[in-house]
Amino acid sequence: MSEQLIFINGEYVSKENAVVSVYDHGFLYGDGVFEGIRSYNGNVFRLKEHLVRLYDSAKSILLDVPYTTEEMTEIVLETLRKNNLSNAYLRLVVSRGIGNLSLDPFSCKRPNVIVIAESLSLFPKELYDSGLEIVTAASRRNRSDVLSPKVKSLNYLNNILVKIEAGLAGVPEALMLNDQGYVAEGSADNIFIIQNNRIITPPGYVGALEGITRNAIIELAREKGYSMEEAVFTQHDVYVADEVFLTGTAAEVIAVVKVDGRSIGTGKPGVITNELLKAFRDLVVDDGVKVSNSKLNIG
Ligand code: PMP
Repeated sequence: MSEQLIFINGEYVSKENAVVSVYDHGFLYGDGVFEGIRSYNGNVFRLKEHLVRLYDSAKSILLDVPYTTEEMTEIVLETLRKNNLSNAYLRLVVSRGIGNLSLDPFSCKRPNVIVIAESLSLFPKELYDSGLEIVTAASRRNRSDVLSPKVKSLNYLNNILVKIEAGLAGVPEALMLNDQGYVAEGSADNIFIIQNNRIITPPGYVGALEGITRNAIIELAREKGYSMEEAVFTQHDVYVADEVFLTGTAAEVIAVVKVDGRSIGTGKPGVITNELLKAFRDLVVDDGVKVSNSKLNIG
């Protein structure tokens, strides 16, 4: 296999050479934003939506991305081509860049922009067939009016605390409640519950990131004629749901079969979950920005 190449500030360099300074405020303070994107069969799924979210997150923290969205599109496609990847997970990072040791973001002269493409499966393959067991974390989602979950920032400590709780409980993922105790999301994925053929996911204001996979599932569920609502719900609603599943770019669509020791429905991935998973897999293979349509030549 040829060497992995990583885009960093205009150059494609090897993994060993893809390094940033210890004075980067992304490293010192988590000051920056990021995106996770997937390419399926050479189609980059909802690239435009991911870039809108990246640039909106950057705008929110007064960070100027030094490329236009058109240029960033080309960088993403070129990174895939350089690595000869058609099925890949892409990580885009825009950090505040090198500054001094104070918090002051105005001491940073130029953001660092990084694009990494590689193969990634968040959960082991067999869990997509069997479904996940999860727990509810004691750590609560940060309040939307303190730090909006819509800003996909490099500060993921809230989510990492949840992932630690999952690890300590010996399960692959955990649920986060918001400060009022309503279900918000997983550490890096959105949650859906299904009860009597009604599909429900928490609204953004509860404290969930409005995931791009989540939005695709909402569309698919409506196209299929299901009652699809964004509504507030509790842990109890999760326990008594017929089906539960998680969505995310890294997680894709994955059934949840046990929550805090309670079996969900039949204890197996549900019929509607599997139907939506199939519809999602069909959608992603031909819905996206085609790598081959890029204006750049393959080097
Ligand atoms: N919530 C959080 C906290 C996340 O980090 C992610 C992953 N980006 C998601 C939800 C799912 O969002 P998406 O479907 O856009 O990947």
